[in-house]
Amino acid sequence: MNYTYICPIHGEFSTNLRADWDWCNHEDGYVVCAEAAKRVWHFRVDVGFEPYYAPSFGTVVRSRTHAKDLAKIASEEATLRTGIESSYTVVDTHDDAAVGIDTEEKKHYGEETRRHAVNGAAWSAERRAELQAERDRLRAEKDQAKVDA
Ligand SMILES: [Zn+2]
Repeated sequence: MNYTYICPIHGEFSTNLRADWDWCNHEDGYVVCAEAAKRVWHFRVDVGFEPYYAPSFGTVVRSRTHAKDLAKIASEEATLRTGIESSYTVVDTHDDAAVGIDTEEKKHYGEETRRHAVNGAAWSAERRAELQAERDRLRAEKDQAKVDA
């Protein structure tokens, strides 16, 4: 695994060192660069994703990844509750074509979502308390972000 760092003079380079920064070490004749090069962090961002409250999950969805996690939990819960193997899929309804969904499928997912909402209403009190705790945590995080800003 290579980690990317950026020297303010020589630009990006990769090493096996996993750290927040590394020495540049760029050689130019007898001169070796001794600039501190900052780690370049690569991560995926959900572009334009706005957190929203999802009634079917009973919680705030923060990202597509989060939605997938929630769907997985819901699937497991439904499987346990009904004894029937259940699997919920998260669909980005803003980009149907990109995920290859036609009208029939959209209708199907719409029904799935409604079914899910009904199932969601039957979730256990314990689970609800967990979700409430998660909501409180998110709210506290948001408040903290305001304080930090
Ligand atoms: Zn350098």
